[in-house]
Order: sequence, then C-alpha cells, then structure tokens
Amino acid sequence: MSIMVGVGKGAQAGVLIRDAQALERMEKVDTVVVDKTGTLTEGRPSVTAVVAAGGIDENELLRLAAGLERASEHPLARAIVRAAEERDLAIPAVTGFDSPVGKGVLGTVERRKLAIGNAAFIAEQGVETSGLAHQADRLRDHGATAVFVALDGHIGGVIAIADRIKQNARSVVDELHRQGIRIVMLTGDNMTTARSVADSLGIDEVHADILPADKHALVEKLKAGGRVVAMAGDGVNDAPALASADVGIAMGSGTDIAMESAGITLLQGDLSGILRARKLSRATMRNIRQNLFLAFVYNAAGVPIAAGALYPQFGIVLTPIFAAAAMSLSSVSVVGNALRLRRVKL
Ligand code: ADP
Ligand code: MG
Repeated sequence: MSIMVGVGKGAQAGVLIRDAQALERMEKVDTVVVDKTGTLTEGRPSVTAVVAAGGIDENELLRLAAGLERASEHPLARAIVRAAEERDLAIPAVTGFDSPVGKGVLGTVERRKLAIGNAAFIAEQGVETSGLAHQADRLRDHGATAVFVALDGHIGGVIAIADRIKQNARSVVDELHRQGIRIVMLTGDNMTTARSVADSLGIDEVHADILPADKHALVEKLKAGGRVVAMAGDGVNDAPALASADVGIAMGSGTDIAMESAGITLLQGDLSGILRARKLSRATMRNIRQNLFLAFVYNAAGVPIAAGALYPQFGIVLTPIFAAAAMSLSSVSVVGNALRLRRVKL
C-alpha cells in the first residue's frame, strides 16, 4: 500500500518508478555512478570546430562526415548532421553502415570509406591519428569531445563537439555530497574532456575511455566492495550497467533501452529527480515501518484479548462484533497511514 502511494507520488514529481525494489533500495544508496554525455550534460551537443587535414576542405569533410553520421542516433552524430545542415551542405547517403557501441561509426559515403570516432577506434582501423593529437587535445581542454575522421585509410580531420553541462548538475552533486554519497563518473569519452567536466562539478572519481562492458564491470566491482550503487545513464551503452546496479536510473530524455533496463526513469532527464527519489524512498520506507508497527501493535494487543487474556482480572472478553471491527480498523489505520505519504513534499 505504501509502495503504491509512493509510486504515485513519484510520478507526480517526475520520478517514474517501474520497479518497487528500486524505491526500497534508494534510501540505502551510498554511491552514485553517472554517465557523462546526456546524463550530466544536456545531450544536445553542437560542433564547435572542424579541423581538416590531408588536403580536404573543411566543408567537404563535414559534408561526408554528416553523410555517415546521419545513420547514427548518437548525440555526437546528431551534432555533426546539424552542423552540416546549418552550413547548407547537401548530405550524401551511406552504405555498409556499422556502429560499434561506444567507439564510433563506419561506412561508405560517395565510394569513400569513412570512419568517425575516438582515437582508439580510428587506430583500430589502421589509421594514424598522432598528427592531429595536439590539435585534438587543445580542443578537449575546454570540455569538448574531439572525434577523428578517417577517409580511405588516412586521417581526414578532427571535429570538436561541445555539450553544455546541465544547469542543475552542480547543485545536485553538492546535495548528494552533503548526504555523504560518493559520486563516480563513467564515460566512453576521452580523459581530458572527462576531467574538465568532472572538475567543474566536483566529482570524486573519474573513469574515461571505457566501453559499455567496462561500465557494467565497474558497477559490479563497487557492489562487490559492499557499496550500494545507483547508476544514472541515458544511452544504449549504459544499459548493462543500469541493469546491474542496485538502483538503475534512466534519463527520460535518453534511449528506450536505458529506460527498460532501469528501475527508475527521470522525466526530461532532470537530475534533481535523483534527490527526489531518495527523499521519496526514505519517506516510503519509514511509512512501511510505521505500518508494520501498527499492524504488530493491533495484533499483539488484539489476539491475547480475543483469547480472553483480560477475562480473569477484568472480566473483559471481545464480542465477535467488536473483534470484527478491530480487525478492519487495523487495516484502515494502515491504509490511512499509507495515504499520509501523499502529503510528503518532494
Ligand atoms: P558516453 O559514455 O560519454 O555516453 P559513448 O560511450 O556513447 O559516450 O561514446 C564514447 C566515445 O565513442 C565518444 O566520446 C566518441 O569518441 C565515440 N563515438 C561513439 N559514437 C560515435 C559516433 N556516432 N560518432 C562519432 N564518435 C562516436
Ligand atoms: Mg551517454
């Protein structure tokens, strides 16, 4: 009953609870693991610089890149496509598209073999990125993500994409700290970019350049170390970690897979929902304990009285009518107490 009221209350406050256990465990959480892109940041990144190399012109690079990225759902991909549209470039079609999660994209555009992604991914394609490494690092210093573009086996350039940090991210991190919670950031993005974001938010621990399977492994490791872990994320790459955390929290602005893997979804990806979920969890669990207490008291008193415990001394016996009333009254008081939860301010 309390859980039902709690779930309803959460829904009103933009905290959608799919799994009652998530609500139960949320109050015990001592570690919050967060994904960067789309969770701490808006997830609406935009292109801030295009650096072309190897003789290709900047617009041409962006046009081909957009052709490949149009097939991807990744926020970085959408930024590249939007940038090309803003420059009125005619975006070509792609064939043989592939997107290894957390690495980048591959495909053929206008008969040219294209790959876009992080340095490791481009290196996997046998393409040297070191010529542009310095440029890329300079772009990353301000929190931008630098992705490399490989064209027919040669480096074609680097594109910087920046994503604004969510406006309330800092205050949510601060409040979680006040509650004694440790905050760990996980990202498939580069360490320089990750650090810049983590430092500006005061995050305790950063893991960068990691793959989806590593996110999952890290959550498992924290759990094995005795921590109660909530994981917040938005992407396909976060789904395994969301499913294995004690409490999975998906951003409503994110992918369906993330939401399906998580016990809690925050409407509009509003991070302060994490704080509301905790408050709700505490209130709900307190309410459940009160109800157990109420039911216990009724039974502890009622059962002996009904059995005639007070008869020898006081001549009191329970008439069946009174017993029936007491019985219902115990349920009524539990329900009544559960309904009190509706008055909790989130
Ligand atoms: P996060 O963990 O921050 O959400 P992802 O795991 O989705 O990031 O991506 C990790 C990295 O892989 C990105 O920083 C980028 O370098 C690269 N990447 C992934 N998808 C794409 C794409 N569609 N286009 C370019 N690069 C990509
Ligand atoms: Mg993400």
